[in-house]
Amino acid sequence: MTHAIEKLPKLTRRTLLQVGSGAAGAVSILGLSARSAKAAKVSKAAVAYQDSPKGDQNCASCRLFTAPNACKQVEGDISPNGWCRIWSKAG
Ligand code: SF4
Repeated sequence: MTHAIEKLPKLTRRTLLQVGSGAAGAVSILGLSARSAKAAKVSKAAVAYQDSPKGDQNCASCRLFTAPNACKQVEGDISPNGWCRIWSKAG
């Protein structure tokens, strides 16, 4: 009988640790999801993307452009000669 009572606190502590690490894992997953959502690209329409330059500004001269045809912020195929309203000078 005494033996069983001595074991009880150990089991309880272990159970709490397991529950605790499970909760921490869930928080990590949620944190990761939040970061992924922040990193998501926006649509061309949201930034008024166009396939032609605007003045001397174009995607090829934007710091967000990724050659040959992508953008770090805007989804879809991006022309080096395109432009959108979040254009930001490279360099
Ligand atoms: S102007 Fe810049 S931000 Fe806009 S689509 Fe082109 S590369 Fe992306």
